[in-house]
Amino acid sequence: MAIGHTQLNNTISSLTFDNTFTRELPEDNEITNYRRHVLGACYSRVKPASVASPKLIAYSKEAALLLDISETACKTDEFTQVFVGNKLLSGMDSYAACYGGHQFGTWAGQLGDGRAINLGEIVNNRSERWTLQLKGAGHTPYSRNADGLAVLRSSVREFLCSEAMFHLGIPTTRALSVIATGEMVERDMFYDGHPKEEQGAVVCRLAPSFIRFGNFEIFAFRNDIVTLKKLLDYTIKTDFPHLAENFLYLKQSSCKIYLKWFEEVCRRTADMVVEWMRVGFVHGVMNTDNMSILGLTIDYGPYGWVENYDQNWTPNTTDAKGRRYCFGNQPAIAQWNLAQLANAIYPLIEDVDSLQQALVLYSTRFQEQWQNMMASKLGLRNFEYESDKILIKDLLNILSLVETDMTLFFRKLALVDFNSDYFINREFILKYFIDVYYMPSQLTNDYLERMIDWLNHYAKRMTKDNLPNQARRMQMDSHNPKYILRNYLGQLAIDKAQEGDFSLIDKLLELLRYPYSEQPENEEFAQKRPDWARNRAGCSMLSCSS
Ligand code: AMP
Ligand code: MG
Repeated sequence: MAIGHTQLNNTISSLTFDNTFTRELPEDNEITNYRRHVLGACYSRVKPASVASPKLIAYSKEAALLLDISETACKTDEFTQVFVGNKLLSGMDSYAACYGGHQFGTWAGQLGDGRAINLGEIVNNRSERWTLQLKGAGHTPYSRNADGLAVLRSSVREFLCSEAMFHLGIPTTRALSVIATGEMVERDMFYDGHPKEEQGAVVCRLAPSFIRFGNFEIFAFRNDIVTLKKLLDYTIKTDFPHLAENFLYLKQSSCKIYLKWFEEVCRRTADMVVEWMRVGFVHGVMNTDNMSILGLTIDYGPYGWVENYDQNWTPNTTDAKGRRYCFGNQPAIAQWNLAQLANAIYPLIEDVDSLQQALVLYSTRFQEQWQNMMASKLGLRNFEYESDKILIKDLLNILSLVETDMTLFFRKLALVDFNSDYFINREFILKYFIDVYYMPSQLTNDYLERMIDWLNHYAKRMTKDNLPNQARRMQMDSHNPKYILRNYLGQLAIDKAQEGDFSLIDKLLELLRYPYSEQPENEEFAQKRPDWARNRAGCSMLSCSS
């Protein structure tokens, strides 16, 4: 099969590896796989555990393309054996990385790949580097007191959401496959002392690099500046080659390059969080060990999608009290995390002012991109500070007043014909927007008046832009998805998968390939959350148990 000029392989045996991480970074000399603190090394070599009867649940054909492999290859037994961890291909060099992290605002010490095992790096036909990583393929030196395994429900969630985010155009790690291990794993899903046996599974994830803020933090905290420098030099050379060029050709000092690198991490992180805010994605556990230095969404745990617009919403039960990682806090937390990264690399730069300026750059970048993003969501030609700042602020306040489905609201707004002569009055709202409200009884006179007022301001602003309805709608629809991985939809797919029926996973994967398109045959997936799902576990809130 050929796509463009790329020849796809029908077998995975032909994959060739170029393992820079293990080749260029310091390794742990201990090769026995037992839990321990690993000092002076970026990784430990470890082999995935074998499982009895693996079964392929789903694969992503787009992720397979990144490895230049065809769908035929994905359907082979070898694919299942390799990507569950039963077999290593020639050229693979499997390892777990050492990292630390701040969890819920507190330094947590060594964490590391406790249940992730990297298989190696592939350079595809487009010269892109992809690291392959199994999640849930057994314990490593970094597993602490846990088992290194993952259950079906969390694996399906990671698989579907990674690919959904990609199709939404949001920077993310990718998911190649999800494979049931055929073995059972014990989990106390509600942390209430009632552990249950659940089916185990392994996801194969792909990213140019899985390096996290925490990979740098661990060496800084241990005052191991030599390894810290090796890791940063490696990162710049491998994943930020445009910066490395300055180093080589412009002979800039390494401090300058390190600072430029940090500024770029700040920019990428800002852009990623803007995208989360655009679609209502809440990561749920923004610990520094879950922050990618490439600005990719990484580690899909108790994430969720905002249903009714609520800045305080968090999907993570562990965070229900403090709401540190709730929807509206994500931009500020990302900056806090960047400040921890700045602290970590400080010994290599020793220039507080410049690092602080980079953190300010994060805020400026976030603000700028967020304003542009909101203007696009509203179908404005440009963000105009004087008028639009208030317009957007007012809208977000109004959306929070009553339970309003964020996704449905913006799609509906795009359809309003502001050129027609109908009047924006309470009857119009009650008729036209009624489907976006979870509790119509909340629609008081006061609320309706505020919404009418806002729509009239918006209409005036539209007139100023003078964009034809159709063009405005197209712009809005390309920024406001119609289909997202609604929390309850993911849970329905998991419920079925646990019964051995994987059809809804395939269905959602297909649906979410075209999140911005009208798909008349799939209207049922674009409805607001049904009432039965309001408080159901998995549909509204999740624990970290996975
Ligand atoms: P998370 O909050 O899921 O990103 O995980 C935080 C840390 O715990 C990371 O170092 C993970 O590798 C580790 N971890 C989470 N679950 C497990 C598990 N079942 N077995 C081993 N390590 C785990
Ligand atoms: Mg993690």
